[in-house]
Amino acid sequence: MSKTHNLGFPRIGRERQLKFAQEQFWRGELSAAQLQDTAATLRAQHWQWQREAGLDWVPVGDFALYDQVLNLTALLGNVPARYGFSGGEVGLDTYFAMARGTASAPAMEMTKWFDTNYHYIVPEFTADSRFELSSHALFDEVQEAQAQSIPAKVVLLGPVSYLFLGKSKQAGFDRLNLLPRLLKAYASLLLRLHGLGVQWVQLDEPILALDLDEPWLAAFQQAYPLLAEQGIPILLASYFGDVSRHLPLLTRLPLAGVHIDVVRAPEQLSVFAAQWPQDRVLSVGIVDGRNVWRADLRQKLAQLSEVADRGEQLWLAPSCSLLHVPVDLAAEQKLDAELKSWLAFARQKLDEVAALSHALNQGESVVSAILADSDQAAASRRSSTRIHNAAVAARLAALTAADAERDAPFAVRQVSQQAHLNLPAFPTTTIGSFPQTQDIRSARAAFKRGELDEAGYLAAMKSAIRLAVAKQEELGLDVLVHGEAERNDMVEYFGEQLSGYAFSQNGWVQSYGSRCVKPPLIFGDVSRPQAMTVAWSRFAQTLTARPMKGMLTGPVTMLQWSFVRDDQPRALTARQIALALRDEVCDLEAAGIRVIQIDEPAIREGLPLRRADWDAYLQWAVEAFRLSASGVQNETQIHTHMCYSEFNDILPSIAAMDADVITIETSRSDMELLDAFAAFNYPNDIGPGVYDIHSPRIPAVDEMVRLLEKARQVIPAERLWVNPDCGLKTRGWHETEAALRHMVQAARQLRETA
Ligand code: GLN
Ligand code: ZN
Repeated sequence: MSKTHNLGFPRIGRERQLKFAQEQFWRGELSAAQLQDTAATLRAQHWQWQREAGLDWVPVGDFALYDQVLNLTALLGNVPARYGFSGGEVGLDTYFAMARGTASAPAMEMTKWFDTNYHYIVPEFTADSRFELSSHALFDEVQEAQAQSIPAKVVLLGPVSYLFLGKSKQAGFDRLNLLPRLLKAYASLLLRLHGLGVQWVQLDEPILALDLDEPWLAAFQQAYPLLAEQGIPILLASYFGDVSRHLPLLTRLPLAGVHIDVVRAPEQLSVFAAQWPQDRVLSVGIVDGRNVWRADLRQKLAQLSEVADRGEQLWLAPSCSLLHVPVDLAAEQKLDAELKSWLAFARQKLDEVAALSHALNQGESVVSAILADSDQAAASRRSSTRIHNAAVAARLAALTAADAERDAPFAVRQVSQQAHLNLPAFPTTTIGSFPQTQDIRSARAAFKRGELDEAGYLAAMKSAIRLAVAKQEELGLDVLVHGEAERNDMVEYFGEQLSGYAFSQNGWVQSYGSRCVKPPLIFGDVSRPQAMTVAWSRFAQTLTARPMKGMLTGPVTMLQWSFVRDDQPRALTARQIALALRDEVCDLEAAGIRVIQIDEPAIREGLPLRRADWDAYLQWAVEAFRLSASGVQNETQIHTHMCYSEFNDILPSIAAMDADVITIETSRSDMELLDAFAAFNYPNDIGPGVYDIHSPRIPAVDEMVRLLEKARQVIPAERLWVNPDCGLKTRGWHETEAALRHMVQAARQLRETA
């Protein structure tokens, strides 16, 4: 008889109750007790739902008031010295100080959780790090669950991943040295849980899906024998990739079971089926925990036939924690019935796991109605004309290599562009957005709610554009932008206008802390029914004689920040989006827009977890960008923009994108990022950001001159542009104008000394 469990449940609440409680607490409108109350209510609700779904084991320990990795940091008492923690219990103040910083102590760093859009708080390690159980939260939650008769399985990040995912804060210090100390703390933690009557612990070791050096693999060998001695059976959970290469290691470890992700890495199922000992639990992550599609249960059952004979030692689960999907499809009122029939959110995914288990245990007939529904959804997804668009397919089939090539090489294009644009040395520009004032936001929101009519909305947006253009002219910028007043989000704005995209009402997913995002759903072939930005850019261009830069979001970013189709490769979806954008680029050109920026801030975060897979990804990602950009004449200048801090290892691909100009974020690294561009002999124009837009600080002219001088030492002056690090939508006009005035002055100073 197979069993069912779950690796983790979204904690934000179906109505984002946690977010609102956190924010009220931070504003002082809610007491700590009230916040804890909301948290307990959410946990109880989520446990109850999971029990109702029929799970044999329900996760406890997956809840967090900010982040589950930070919870562990608090539990282990691994509080960085700057927060003044001197032992005892890590209280809420210290917990949130670590997450959000205080006046005297900056927050701990936050980074992306593997290739998801969730961000965790990065543990800090030094030679002085000590680990001592310093929080009751987990033990309280276990007792809370027990009081509610929840079959609790405690879920924690495993020790090796905890160390790996943290950072050494001391030059030359190898954090692996802390392993013995850390293991002692884990051992007492497990002992304590054992004392509470906990019957299973799931230790997540997702780093097993990464490329790991020998010392890190050896750490597993060192860790798990000790942990297994504490009396609780351990389920080691992997996810986000294939771990079958570690099968000999995993088998040697005294584990009661392993969890594998067979959605991301289906091929490992046969390997584990053949080689994982029959007397240990094999937990099969069969339902996609990273995406919103309904499972094709028939196909899943076929997949499971290989392991169906494992009886009680077969556990079924979602592929990973459900943290990465929205809570409940039932909360969606506006999606049409057909589209809704193709989807499953967290609660529905648990029902799928339960149905699969019932089918295995009692025969398919006990779930025949569920299977019939699933069959029907799968059939309609395979054939629906809303998904499959013959015109898109024909266009893709007709593509040739030349479609992803500009007419002439950069050196030639540059001459024609300069003849048209007539720009000074060190041309100045901005990244696209200007301050989204309260007026702009309210007008957009009122229009969305139907309280402002189209004419009123157009008038409001046009006046925002007029203002932005007038200010840029007055400041003396060389290449202007319209300011993006009409966009609330750089992906949603385009998704709403493209076929093949849909939007949920409540499909929120936690990004970090109280921040939630509602990614669009790409469900079908993407095409562009009509021009999306041309009217705005054309209007903006009528207001000035200077070049107006058109502004688009690139294909990889459109893909990366959405829930994507699972019925075709990502590469193909990217190419479809690229073609839709290509039409927009050509229409902008035809409307007289001679500079067009295609933002790709997400290109790096799309990199696969393992190096061996990078080339294939970069190949299609670069091709998609080039497809979107290559329909124009030589005279039209294509810009791209990326804001992230590591380029070194992917520079050849960035160069291969062949944008005429790339603007990047560099001010916070003091231009050091440019060294890589220089070393690589990056061939086209570069605009290294000369000031940080994340803060309202107004940098002095000298500061920016100094940065530009630094840039000029490594990049030929004639290829340098002058711009901020990123868009200015989160800034106010006051600091924006002051900073840009200084920036223009800095550019002028450089021209004089050229
Ligand atoms: N054009 C966008 C803006 O200026 C770019 C945003 C981004 O890079 N994330 O807001
Ligand atoms: Zn940016």
